[in-house]
Amino acid sequence: MMRSPELEKMPRAELEKLQIERLQEKVKDVYEKVPFYRRAFKEKEVTPDDIQTPADLKKLPFTIKLDFRDNYPYGLLAVPPEEIVRIHSSSGTTGKPIIAPYTQGDVDTWAEIMARTLATSGVTREDVLQNAYGYGLFTGGLGFHYGAELLGASVVPTSGGNTKRQILLIQDLGATVITCTPSYALILAETALDMGVDLRETRLRLGVLGAEPWSEQMRQDIEERLGIIAINIYGLTEIIGPGVSVECPHKCGMHIAEDHFLVELIDPQTEEPVPYGQEGELVITTLTKEAQPVIRFRTRDIVSLNPEPCECGRTMTRMSRVTGRSDDMLIVRGVNVFPSQIESVLLEVEGVEPHYLIVVDRKHAFKSDELEVWVEVSEDVFSDEMQKMEALEKKLRSEMDSVLGISARIKLVEPKTIARTEGKAKRVVDRSEL
Ligand code: AMP
Ligand code: ZN
Repeated sequence: MMRSPELEKMPRAELEKLQIERLQEKVKDVYEKVPFYRRAFKEKEVTPDDIQTPADLKKLPFTIKLDFRDNYPYGLLAVPPEEIVRIHSSSGTTGKPIIAPYTQGDVDTWAEIMARTLATSGVTREDVLQNAYGYGLFTGGLGFHYGAELLGASVVPTSGGNTKRQILLIQDLGATVITCTPSYALILAETALDMGVDLRETRLRLGVLGAEPWSEQMRQDIEERLGIIAINIYGLTEIIGPGVSVECPHKCGMHIAEDHFLVELIDPQTEEPVPYGQEGELVITTLTKEAQPVIRFRTRDIVSLNPEPCECGRTMTRMSRVTGRSDDMLIVRGVNVFPSQIESVLLEVEGVEPHYLIVVDRKHAFKSDELEVWVEVSEDVFSDEMQKMEALEKKLRSEMDSVLGISARIKLVEPKTIARTEGKAKRVVDRSEL
């Protein structure tokens, strides 16, 4: 098993040398093979030869979520389509999803990154790892699966849901590690209690949790209720999926796999660099991705960076918890939701006005367990009979469901009841503010 642990502890100067070599190669690659990047480079009047030092990175153009939509589905490929062996996906801002294609080389590299990531978090080949991240288009399930197998742990691929069965399997198979979202970890604890099972008395000892924001408070809660150490892990579809960064057992920031991902921190407004220790938007360039390399991707995730070596001996820069977003994305029950998607549904449906309010229950930054949409109906629908209102509500519910990938509660309200603003409309409110 290749886990390249020596890379995690390499001196910064050596790491930077490796990064610049890989960057130069990737920049050349996308310039030659991806028309989108060639055009973007030309607009900024930069060529691969201009990239000589890490500081030259800022000469390159940014890539944003919209670029994925505009080039959907295969416009950002840097390899011939027959090289693709797998495609994952996540929701985009409107209409089209974000897709993440992988070559065999990408799949192998990702497994290696995830094996190392899991090892960093404390997983070993002696562990029985129950993987309750969703298997399917979402990167979580298969990302953890391949990494854990490569590490040599015994993987139980439960995927999400069917919570009672999950509890039984944890007991019967003696799972020592649970991997899932922090919200699902709490659902497991609650369900176990209902079943008369105390998870603290099982062999569970470690949780590798992520894919949505959570707080230190929530960590303590999870650790107490499940009797585990809870470790934070971060990743995103555009870059690779899980494995971009993870905490070591010191729990003092997530070590970024900098041999694969080059990070910058910028002020989301001015796009100027932000110094270490201060909060800014994370920007990531992939250094080893083959199928769909990404240059300076604006993640919209707000974090701070710490380049000091960690007590664990790793030299890889650590990122803080994600404390917010520089856009209006929400994560509802594990699914990315953009207000623009909701708006696009409303604009398609007859009988509703483009005035709406998204009501969420946001305990941790941009994560919510609930999604409720208040929609203004037009005068004529409102004065019509009840049946029409019910039919409209049903239609909206099913349209939302198919566009968002999760169900939303719809509340139809009278014309002109949702507050109008002259400036930027406030579309998302927390239930506690109502
Ligand atoms: P997806 O591409 O669907 O996996 O969503 C990626 C997004 O999920 C990231 O850009 C973050 O906003 C969020 N995310 C993933 N992991 C974490 C984490 N550990 N803490 C906070 N947010 C996270
Ligand atoms: Zn560490």
